[in-house]
Amino acid sequence: HQSKINKHKHCVSFIKKFADELLYEMNLSNQMQNGILQKQFSLAFQPKVNSHKNKLIGVEVLLRWQMKNGQSISPAVFIPIAEKNGFIIELGNWIIHSTLNQIREWLDNYIPVVPVSVNVSAIQFRQPQFIDYLFMQLDFYQIPGELLEIELTEGVLMQDIEGIISVLKKIRERGVSVSIDDFGTGYSSLSYLPLLPVDSLKIDKAFMHQIHINRDNQKIVQTIVNLANNFNLTIIAEGVETALELSETQRCGITNVQGYFYSHPLSNKHLIKDWLH
Ligand code: C2E
Ligand code: CA
Ligand code: CA
Repeated sequence: HQSKINKHKHCVSFIKKFADELLYEMNLSNQMQNGILQKQFSLAFQPKVNSHKNKLIGVEVLLRWQMKNGQSISPAVFIPIAEKNGFIIELGNWIIHSTLNQIREWLDNYIPVVPVSVNVSAIQFRQPQFIDYLFMQLDFYQIPGELLEIELTEGVLMQDIEGIISVLKKIRERGVSVSIDDFGTGYSSLSYLPLLPVDSLKIDKAFMHQIHINRDNQKIVQTIVNLANNFNLTIIAEGVETALELSETQRCGITNVQGYFYSHPLSNKHLIKDWLH
């Protein structure tokens, strides 16, 4: 009898947890639109560094959401929700326009700029209007394509490969470069790699974690480096946190890195002060 009661309790708590999560998601989902109107979203910038020259080579834009109660929510939480409820299109457009607006402001103030990478969700990228919006905004802010890079995850590139290739070609003709994000974590078919007009591979931070100790990660990273070299792709490692991880990353043949070792994502003010000069 007792075990039956326990089972019942367990079931109730499971349903409650599920309901709580659903409510939380619905609540966030409802607050996104307001978030844009009330300027709760902002851009953070994380330096990408040539680790041999200690030189800034680019920055990645990472979205931040601070709600009106002061609470910050991780993009790892709200981006998937925005992808589910469709808001990612409006949010993604906001990110592109805000990024280009920021680059324009730097240029107008004679701040020495570096290429800026923006994460583009698969759902946004697959919209036929995506490229029109991107080009229209580049024109509007008069930003050379060379100052922009888009980061796409492997998953984006797997469906409708012909269509994807033609969009990528147009993007690169405009000077905008393309990077495959989180490389090694998805289930992409390697046979697609030579077909894809992309510039670089970004190795996911999971493989950099304790790389000086983890032999399996070392082997995976070395293999990705070989792959990139054979296909003339540049390579960058994300999530490099310590000096030990950095030196092992360099030993694996990687020069360009991003991660807490060099810098956390920064506000515009801090980026200018510490990096853009
Ligand atoms: P991602 O594109 O793989 O971005 C890297 C994440 O790793 C960022 O988390 C960054 O802050 C974090 N990171 C950077 N260096 C280190 C490090 O040394 N150690 C560790 N442990 N983490 C590090 P964040 O900002 O929380 O973003 C999480 C994910 O949310 C991103 O992963 C990306 O998938 C998504 N995201 C963020 N901003 C945007 C955006 O503007 N648009 C879209 N579509 N997705 C975004
Ligand atoms: Ca990224
Ligand atoms: Ca990643």
